[in-house]
Amino acid sequence: MFNIALDGPGGAGKSTVAKAIAKELGFIYVDTGALYRAIGLYSLRKAVDTRDISGVIGLLDEIDVNFTYVDGEQRVMLNGEDVSTDIRLPEVSMAASNVSAIPEVRAFLLDLQRKIASEKDCLMDGRDIGTVILPNAQLKIFLTASAEVRAKRRYDELLAKGQKVDYDEILKDLNERDYQDSHREIAPLKQADDAVYLDTSDLTFEEVMKRIIDLYEERK
Ligand code: C5P
Repeated sequence: MFNIALDGPGGAGKSTVAKAIAKELGFIYVDTGALYRAIGLYSLRKAVDTRDISGVIGLLDEIDVNFTYVDGEQRVMLNGEDVSTDIRLPEVSMAASNVSAIPEVRAFLLDLQRKIASEKDCLMDGRDIGTVILPNAQLKIFLTASAEVRAKRRYDELLAKGQKVDYDEILKDLNERDYQDSHREIAPLKQADDAVYLDTSDLTFEEVMKRIIDLYEERK
């Protein structure tokens, strides 16, 4: 199996680029953030504070989270319900970041991620894919961009979906999540030693695509 690990902070354009590359290479695209979002969403629905560590751990027994693929597109299933839309609600982002700092939550999701990567050529997008989940991935990329560029991209994305958005709030939320994701004790957001660093602030979508496809061609 060929595994591409794509890590980086929120809003770096990972998912857009990742989807297009996976399509081009015939790989499956695995958005691991969706798993943490599903657990965050479940906690919110059960009115369990996502910073209450034992409360969240207590929910794990009730949770079955999985992926299905419809026309090649990833859907996230939470106890049999397709929650792919609900997990994108703004309040779920911080909830996901909170639950993702809990070691038991990360352990709960580890096998699923490794199993997918062992069965299929895939491009897996997350925060700790190159460092923890797939340390032997043949290609690792750390994709980033300045906080302002990332906030603007997220802003445009949400606006295009018709959502009411505030740029300053998005920037604040991104900075807060980046800080929390980079400073947690377990599996923090960090570039793997053998990952290629790619700052996309001044690159077009096509340039980023080409760069990654070229790296894949070199390594395959
Ligand atoms: O990528 P996305 O923004 O959807 O991820 C939501 C949250 O899930 C992140 O802020 C991060 O805290 C967490 N996450 C993680 N490890 C991953 C993917 C996401 O901790 N591999």
